[in-house]
Amino acid sequence: MKKELIMVGPPASGKGTQTKKLVAETGLKHVDTGSMLREAVAAKTEAGVIAKEYMDKGQLVPVEIVGRIIKDRLSKDDCKKGFILDGFPRSLEQAEILDNILAELDKDEDVDMKVVYFDMPIDNLIERIVNRRSCPACGAIFNVKTMTLKKDGKCDFCETELVQRADDNEETAKSRFNTYFEQTAPLIDLYEKRGNLVKVNAAGTIDEVFAALKEVIG
Ligand code: AMP
Repeated sequence: MKKELIMVGPPASGKGTQTKKLVAETGLKHVDTGSMLREAVAAKTEAGVIAKEYMDKGQLVPVEIVGRIIKDRLSKDDCKKGFILDGFPRSLEQAEILDNILAELDKDEDVDMKVVYFDMPIDNLIERIVNRRSCPACGAIFNVKTMTLKKDGKCDFCETELVQRADDNEETAKSRFNTYFEQTAPLIDLYEKRGNLVKVNAAGTIDEVFAALKEVIG
């Protein structure tokens, strides 16, 4: 059976970290629109140049751009056995686009689809964001305030110099939370009504959240 997971939750609630762990265990494909957009920005493609303006302001990149990226990605062979969507959909409009894409891609498939809601009080998330660094080589994510790195400023796994995302500053982070509450949070209701929402208490340690995640996705 094809397995499809959609991760929904506020910025920095741990979706990316948990998805990476789950991918390592399940082999499902990690489809992360934020990373794909950052790659397009770095490559200065036409879509990337437009996307940057929105990302710098903490707003959603226009649906025409994201819709095309996601359709191309989900249509690839490596998503045939299943995927984990991290960062898409992010609005009711995008949920409809996803419905249309999957109606076509999954028409002859038996699918187990679950939407995982990372339930988390947002009090400390801005602090988490400004202290977040990532490894440009292997993608690992660290919090430089709560974790002690083996070598200062370097990735614990591959020793590459860590970087901070351009939008991980306080001002953009605040705007990203507004965008989340206005446009993304309504998805929770939508998927709850459809009956495929599962909730994870995302406030625990990485291992606690991972254990809870595995339990709810079955
Ligand atoms: P993320 O890495 O998921 O935190 O996303 C970083 C930024 O990329 C967001 O603040 C948006 O500007 C943009 N972005 C990521 N995914 C989407 C999406 N599904 N729709 C529109 N913009 C997105």
